[in-house]
Amino acid sequence: MLVYKAPIRDIRFILETLGYDDVTEIAAFEDFDLDTMMALVEQAGKFCTNEMLPANRIGDVEGVQFDPETKDVSTPTEFKALYNKFVESQMGGMSLTAEYGGGGAPHAAAIALSEMSTATNKSFTMCPGLGHGLVEALTHYGSDEQKENFLEKLITGVWTGTMCLTEPQCGTDLGLLTTKAVPEGDHYKLTGTKIWITWGEHDLAENIIHLVLARLPGAPEGIRGISAFIVPKINLDGSRNGIYCGGLEHKMGIHGSPTCVMNMEDATGYLVGEAHKGMRAMFVMMNFARLTVGVEGYALSEISYQTAVEYCKERRQGRSLNSERQEPDVKADCILKHPDVRRQLLNVRSTTEGMRALSLWVANLIDIGLQHEDTQIRQDADDLVGLLTPIVKSYCTERGFQNISDCMQAIGGSGYTVEWNIEQYLRDERIAMIYEGTNHIQALDLIGRKLPKDGGRLYKVFSKKVYRFIKENRETESVVEFIPKLESALNRLNEATMTLGMKGMSDPEEAASQASNYLNLFGITTLAYLWARMALAASEKSGKFYATKIKTARYFYSHILPETDSIYAIINAGKDNMMAFDEDEF
Ligand SMILES: Cc1cc2nc3c(=O)[nH]c(=O)nc-3n(C[C@H](O)[C@H](O)[C@H](O)COP(=O)(O)OP(=O)(O)OC[C@H]3O[C@@H](n4cnc5c(N)ncnc54)[C@H](O)[C@@H]3O)c2cc1C
Repeated sequence: MLVYKAPIRDIRFILETLGYDDVTEIAAFEDFDLDTMMALVEQAGKFCTNEMLPANRIGDVEGVQFDPETKDVSTPTEFKALYNKFVESQMGGMSLTAEYGGGGAPHAAAIALSEMSTATNKSFTMCPGLGHGLVEALTHYGSDEQKENFLEKLITGVWTGTMCLTEPQCGTDLGLLTTKAVPEGDHYKLTGTKIWITWGEHDLAENIIHLVLARLPGAPEGIRGISAFIVPKINLDGSRNGIYCGGLEHKMGIHGSPTCVMNMEDATGYLVGEAHKGMRAMFVMMNFARLTVGVEGYALSEISYQTAVEYCKERRQGRSLNSERQEPDVKADCILKHPDVRRQLLNVRSTTEGMRALSLWVANLIDIGLQHEDTQIRQDADDLVGLLTPIVKSYCTERGFQNISDCMQAIGGSGYTVEWNIEQYLRDERIAMIYEGTNHIQALDLIGRKLPKDGGRLYKVFSKKVYRFIKENRETESVVEFIPKLESALNRLNEATMTLGMKGMSDPEEAASQASNYLNLFGITTLAYLWARMALAASEKSGKFYATKIKTARYFYSHILPETDSIYAIINAGKDNMMAFDEDEF
């Protein structure tokens, strides 16, 4: 049973509430007022629902095939036609630079599209999605010639992109990578093996452009000796380059997305940016990719929620414990009447809408941070993007997985069968906690890089913003019920930040032991701030949609925000009982 309605109304409400008007003040976006933006989002929503969703199960069942003779990879039957239609729709380049054929829309358009396309067909979405990050990396660090040669075809989707970091001996620890790049004339020859490369080989597009990390001869050891290269599958003169797929992984989910071993034997590559500074280009690519991976969490949470609600309204089991709610003409009531089914669905709904708000807020901040004419506003927005990106990636994927599991639970055995698709969504979502830097690595990035950066400036920008909202609304009747709870959540986050910072200075292991918990504390507190803002905005309007928003904010505050109590207690428990075990006791 395929159930999905693109969450257009919610996206519009969030944009109205969380700073999209600041984006449209920027000269580059003066043509993208809210109505124009929403027209783009609606069009994208229709495409995802009508074209991408029907191919989702086919991708899961058929999967991808590798031919060891030709080294070709073939994709599920519907995907080729779907890709052509996707390219024709020009949606993939919606938020990319107009100078090279993109639509030039604000980042919020890309995040909204990313949600709807992931919800309806995650495996397929990952293919054009990787091109987006590559375009951002080349826009920042590519030479003029590289931009001319590659950007337009990547932006329009004629070619697709990959990112090639992982090798058998190096996943998280990229300093261990050994792929070699040897200079030859105006280019380099690359030799080595990359593994688990998403959409590394396929039959959807004319060419595949790989962004590959490798070492030059005599490069320093570790992460400081890594350079980035563009390695096209088909060279610019039309000849076949020496990069071939060596096989595919068989995995738990995303069966329609090929995960490839990629072998390079004297493959021609072009240096991107400076020698040994490859991580800079890769980080530009990964920053946006980390946001879209975060989106995966709530995208699949949303479609699972819609599916579960449809089921729960139909399924009749038992009697409501409240006689007034019982339906006298039937023998059993629909399961949506039972408090525990509601508990599960509302946990999902309140966090899903909160995570959507968080991601779209960050999308707005990206544009403000890059292009606002006021230097201070630009700096503050950029600080918030840096601080919140690991939280989007990690909190949204962890919560998203839990949410899909709750949706499965809410509908019972049907959730575990293929008929209602939730089992596929659960399998497809799980990898999001692992790739693009595992969730714990995001937490280390948050506590080890983002918090100490520039004397704690990033965190100060965040806490100042939340405190200002609290101060301005202490007496506002419509949100007075939320403000004291938000204030104590923020105070506690401040305390945890101080504690972790102090401990981290004397004992980094102590801080690392609680980094993941700290990230979740931060994530829930941020959602509480955004829910208070949404409740305030909703209270100024009338109608069912807004009344439901306020109820959902109340649910979040009474049933999700208290999770921070136990997380805070665990953070204070520190590392002792974790590190007390000898290795042979495991
Ligand atoms: C389906 C799929 C698609 C992928 N796509 C791509 C792709 O397109 N391109 C690409 O380059 N890679 C890709 N990857 C690889 C992915 O990015 C890595 O799996 C990921 O970075 C983790 O590396 P690893 O699996 O080697 O785990 P490891 O690095 O071995 O980590 C294992 C565990 O140890 C923890 N750990 C590791 N180091 C530390 C530390 N210093 N401190 C604390 N904990 C630590 C990790 O958090 C994790 O829990 C993909 C993987 C999969 C499965």
